[in-house]
Parts: sequence; C-alpha cells; structure tokens
Amino acid sequence: MKILCVNAGSSSLKFQAYEMPSEKVLISGVFERIGIDGKYSMKINGEKIKKDASLTTHEDAVRILARELISNGIVKDLNEIEAVGHRVVHGGEKYSDSVILDEEVLKTIEELSDLAPLHNPANLIGIRAFMKEIPNAIEVGCFDTAFHQSLLEDKFLYAVPREWYEKYGVRKYGFHGMSHKYVSSRACELLNKNDANIIVCHLGNGGSLSAVSNGKCIDTTMGFTPNAGIIMGSRSGDIDYSMIPYIMNKTGKSITEVDTILNKQSGMLAISGVSSDFRDIEEKLRLNDHYALLSHDMFVSSVLGYLAKYYVELGHVDAICFTAGVGENSDYVRKLIVEKLSPFGIKLDENLNEITRFGKEGIITTSDSLIPCFVIPTNEEVMIARDTYELTN
Ligand code: ADP
Repeated sequence: MKILCVNAGSSSLKFQAYEMPSEKVLISGVFERIGIDGKYSMKINGEKIKKDASLTTHEDAVRILARELISNGIVKDLNEIEAVGHRVVHGGEKYSDSVILDEEVLKTIEELSDLAPLHNPANLIGIRAFMKEIPNAIEVGCFDTAFHQSLLEDKFLYAVPREWYEKYGVRKYGFHGMSHKYVSSRACELLNKNDANIIVCHLGNGGSLSAVSNGKCIDTTMGFTPNAGIIMGSRSGDIDYSMIPYIMNKTGKSITEVDTILNKQSGMLAISGVSSDFRDIEEKLRLNDHYALLSHDMFVSSVLGYLAKYYVELGHVDAICFTAGVGENSDYVRKLIVEKLSPFGIKLDENLNEITRFGKEGIITTSDSLIPCFVIPTNEEVMIARDTYELTN
C-alpha cells in the first residue's frame, strides 16, 4: 500500500512517499517558495533532482507532485496512493492521537488556528489541495500536540486564573510530538523493554525535552506555545514575563514587535551575536569567542535543568536520547551535556560520541554507565506513515 506523508508550511510543502508496511521510502522532496517564484527538489533511489517551477499556490505544487509520481514510475495511477498523512501542528485538547480527516475535523483545525496562527491555516491549505488532487485517498491528520495530551492536570495547568484555561484554552500543549513519539518508541526497541522510562532531548533549531513513561508522555518543555522551555536557535525559551511590559515601556515597541523579537531574535542568536545555527557558533568557539562560549553554557544549563527535573519526575530513567539537528550532529553539545550528568552515574564514551553523527544511530555512553544515552535520528515522517497506515487499515 502506498502512502504519502505531507508537511505543508506557509510557503513550502515537504513530502515523502512510502510503501507500507515495509516503510520503504519511494520518493521524498520539498516544494519551496510557494507564492513567490517556486522551486522543488526530489530524491529518488539516492539521486537528487532540482527543478524550477511556477508555484503560485499549494495546489500547483500538489499538481506537479502528482505528475512527478507518475512520470517517475512511483505510481501508474494516482488512485494507487491510498492515503495521505498530514502533519498538523495544533490539535488542541480535542486530539490525543492521529485521526482520519473529515469536514468536522477540518473545521476544528480551523478553529484551533487561534492557537497556531502561522501553522494550522497552512496545514489546512495543504490538506485541501490533496483532497482536490487525489480525492479517493483517505486523508489523515497527525498532530504535533497529540502525544503530549497524556500530561496530567498538575503538569499542563499554569498557576493563573482557572478561567484562562476554561474559557480561553491557556494550558501547556507541547509540540514536536511525532518526534518524541518516534524516538521514545525506538529507544524502547533498543532497550528491548516496552514500559521503559525515557527522556528525549529534541535539540534542533526549535528544541524540546519530554519525559516518557510506558509509551506515554508525562511532561514536556514547550508550553502554551513553542516558545517555552529550553533556549533555542532564535527563541528565548523560559523567561520572566514581566520583562515584556518593562521593555515595551522602555522602547516603545508594540506587543507584536516584542513577540517577534522573543521568537526570532533571541535564544542562541541573541546570546552569541553570531547566528541561530549551532554550526556557525561552533566556528567561533574555536576562536574562544566569549559570547559563543556563553551561549553554549546557557544552552546546556537550560537542558540540564529539565533533564534533572524529568529524572526526578520519572523516578528512574532507562535511557536518555538525543535527536534533531543539534542532538544528532553536534558531538560537542552532547559532550557538554552528558559530562555534566556524572552525578547520575552517566559516563560518556568519547569515541562513540564522536562517531555517532550525521544520521547514525547508537549508544554514546560506556558499558558501565548507570543510564545509557543514545543518539536516535528522528523520523517524524515514518511516524506519520505508521499512524496513517494503522488508521487506514
Ligand atoms: P528544525 O527542524 O527545528 O528547523 P533541525 O532539527 O533541522 O531544526 O536542526 C537544525 C539545526 O541543527 C541547525 O540550525 C543547526 O543549529 C543544527 N545542526 C545541524 N547540523 C549540525 C552540526 N553538524 N553541528 C552542529 N549543529 C548542527
């Protein structure tokens, strides 16, 4: 059975086609600059193809994708695509799992746009474009928030008036759910233990940690929005909210301007003064740049705070996992973090840490480490494919 996985953003559309249940990737790629000029790239059998195309709308991208699927022999007829799984950022409190998309669900996703104004509308445009182009396929929505719906009240409520939650939905939602779900379940496979307690460190441009027990998420660092939790590439992470009215008074900036600064001009970018990209900052580290060093110290400290918290909340930990751009590739950041975990009896294997990068999966601690640390490259797409396959069958 052939399944397409789709992640539609406001000006991009990423896709991956799978043969299921073997999970063989048939084709993957991305359409970019939709609504600007348009280009796309695809990977088939290890070969990369880049093309320009006029992409006025997402529908143009889906039409070209349909043509490419046929001309590259992935399908003879579009009806061979039996299901399309869509990444949807916000499922609110309504969805604790992936669901088959019908008009009622689409309406709810639209209503939830209040909570994710940049993402849900773009996801919807993508879904509608596929419904039009491949009308016979079953469409499935896989929510970034769903995996965290298992959080209990004491973890998802904020200490603010209860009516903020009851009337306006102010609570911790958590994000990166498909990644946390994939990595924690893969860790259980590596440990050969289904009911393991896992801490997942998803360290990318955006970053979040989760504490997972017996396959259920019990706590996570992102909150009402993705801006909460650890320091990120360009997001502040946790701050004292009182600095917002203070800075507005001092600078005359509007709430929108300050919000944008906290999302796009803060985090590692603001501290290092170099970039939001850890690779650029690591270049400066080699020159002993004070602010590059400081940004890493602050980043590591923000991760360690949550690691220690989750260690206590879980009671015991079977594995700590690193994933996403930084977690998968930066042996330097992992070393800084894991070495600080020595009070927990965790011991880094420097050699394993150095070689486990660029898509490799593996353990990076010594055999006598009390808790193993793994690098597990995330695979949100395959998680979408699995959920879509399961629901379709
Ligand atoms: P997102 O999905 O949140 O955009 P990713 O998980 O793709 O982010 O991670 C992207 C980030 O990973 C980059 O901004 C960069 O900071 C970091 N990264 C990627 N490769 C490396 C590397 N070799 N060394 C250090 N950091 C890296």
